[in-house]
Amino acid sequence: MTLAQLQATLAQPQHIVITTHKSPDGDAMGSSLGLYHFLTQLNHTVTVVTPNEYPVNLHWLPNNDKVVIATQQPEKAAELIANATLIFTLDFNNLLRIDQLAKLVEQAVAPKVMIDHHLEPSNYAAFMLSDTSASSTCELIYVFMQMMERTDLLNKQIAECLYTGILTDTGCFKYYSCTDRTHAVVSHLVAAGVKNQELHERIFDADNINRKRLHGYAVAHKMYKMESLPVIITSLTSAELDEYNYETGNSDGIVNVGLGISGVKLSAFFVERDGAVKISFRSKGGFNVNEFSRKHFSGGGHANAAGGGSEVSLQETIKQFETIIPTYANELFES
Ligand code: 5GP
Ligand code: MN
Repeated sequence: MTLAQLQATLAQPQHIVITTHKSPDGDAMGSSLGLYHFLTQLNHTVTVVTPNEYPVNLHWLPNNDKVVIATQQPEKAAELIANATLIFTLDFNNLLRIDQLAKLVEQAVAPKVMIDHHLEPSNYAAFMLSDTSASSTCELIYVFMQMMERTDLLNKQIAECLYTGILTDTGCFKYYSCTDRTHAVVSHLVAAGVKNQELHERIFDADNINRKRLHGYAVAHKMYKMESLPVIITSLTSAELDEYNYETGNSDGIVNVGLGISGVKLSAFFVERDGAVKISFRSKGGFNVNEFSRKHFSGGGHANAAGGGSEVSLQETIKQFETIIPTYANELFES
């Protein structure tokens, strides 16, 4: 599908589904709802369908109540995907990232449009806006509006959504991926009505006390440095999550604490959730966690932030990691 063909398709009213990766984060929900507010203004029927729930600090996003969460409404999600005339897949590079929705999206007759910034995108979409140097998918939604020549439709709702994903995916404008283009986009979002401090507070000052306590417990009792390697390991069992009344999103960010320790090049966080082990990797400098996670933990992501999973127990997974990582000692020290 060429850009002109996509423009022609979007010139007619469509039944559109927007979907995004499992355990959606600020960029996933911000880009999905930002695009939702753009496409509804173009007279399409649009529904955002997520594989599962997302953190409560994103529930203020405009029109959050219209999102269909597939774990809660599986039949509705399946019907929407099957009947769609166009499907946008946002903020992921491989259909495996949408879990139970992958089969439905694959089987759907609608052409797929990928908008994403993850490395090594797989090839399932009819139209791809994949820019692995972009700070966030939210930045690319703005680029998509430019490609459609409709930035005039930018309103406060879109701006708040897109600002959210740019903020969360750039570590509050810190990472190198946050470029002059990112700041230029942000200037338009602020001009469109984003109140930066207010929005920052909604996202980052919205913790419940259980989340704070879980982070405190993890750092105090479950975080350690590997001997003679600049590597931090932290883990949580599902029993520990239960003890702190775990809610979606409550363990997010623990992995970043390890990276804040002087000299640390790699932080790995392992958590036992929904009967599986989920891993988060964060690195500083040249150590590429996308490649590492892809190779050893069936994962991926970005060069300095990636995730993965494992089929074996939490303890076994950590043991595997501790066995593999010393073979990367040179890369870690040189990075
Ligand atoms: P997080 O550690 O916050 O879950 O994820 C870090 C980055 O890696 C995000 O951009 C996320 O989308 C990506 N990611 C997380 N888990 C996986 C995974 O299992 N596979 C792939 N391909 N990417 C992942
Ligand atoms: Mn993203």
